[in-house]
Amino acid sequence: MFKTIKGLVLKRRRFGEAHAYITVITESGLMTFTAYGVMSPKSKSFASCQPYTLAEFVLTAKGDSLTLSQASTISHLIKQGIDFERLSLANYISSMASETTFAEEDAPAIYSLTCTALSLTDRSDAPSEIIKAVFELRLTSALGFYPDFSSCIYCGRTPDGGVFIHSEGGVVCKACLLPEGVQGVSVSRALLTALEHMLSLPDAKAFGIRFSDPVALNAFCTLAERFSAEHLDCATSALTYYKQNLKNFN
Ligand SMILES: [Zn+2]
Repeated sequence: MFKTIKGLVLKRRRFGEAHAYITVITESGLMTFTAYGVMSPKSKSFASCQPYTLAEFVLTAKGDSLTLSQASTISHLIKQGIDFERLSLANYISSMASETTFAEEDAPAIYSLTCTALSLTDRSDAPSEIIKAVFELRLTSALGFYPDFSSCIYCGRTPDGGVFIHSEGGVVCKACLLPEGVQGVSVSRALLTALEHMLSLPDAKAFGIRFSDPVALNAFCTLAERFSAEHLDCATSALTYYKQNLKNFN
C-alpha cells in the first residue's frame, strides 16, 4: 500500500552502506521511515531526505514498517552555507521538535511552529535569540504547559511586574512574598503584556516580537529557556548540546 505525505525532515540516521532512517514531522505527527540507498550520491531522493527539507514522500506501508519509494523536494528551509551559529540553532529546534512526544491534536501547531522557526533561522534579519526564545515558549505552550503572565499565582491580581517562576509557569507579583529558595526571573509589567500578546499571535507574527530594552530581552530569553527546560524532558540535553556547539565554535 502506498501513502503520500508532506513532511519536514528533522533527523536522518544512517545505517549500513548507504541507507538511512528518516524522521519527519507532519501535520499529523512524527513519522520515521526507511530510505534504502538514500545516502548514495546517485540516489534521486538524497536532496529531499536532507535535514531541514520540506518534501513530499511516497511511502510503501507493509505491516508497521514504512519504506520510501519516491520523494520530491518542496523547499530546503535551511540553505547550504548558513553560518555555524544558525546551523546550531536549526539543530536545536529540530531536536526539540523530534524528541518531544506529542498528541496528534497538537501536531499541526508544532509542525507549523517548527517550519516557521527554521525558515526564519535561515534569514539573517531575524535575531537568533528571539527565534530561540519564541520557539521555546510556544513549543512548551503547545504541549500544554501554558504560562500565565496575566495574574499573580498567589493573590490573583494583575501584576505590576514581579518574578516569573518557571517551575510554576506563573508570576509572583511585587506585593506578594517570594518563598525562600524559589528562583525566578524579574519581569516588568511591559514585558508581561508583550509576552501575553506574543502567545496569542499566529506563528509568523509571534516571531516579530522585538525589545529595545536589553534588560527585557535578556529576561525574555532566560525565562523562555528555563521554562522549556523545566517542562520538556528533551530540552536539557538539547540545550547542553547547543551551548557546547557554540562554545566549541567561539
Ligand atoms: Zn500577588
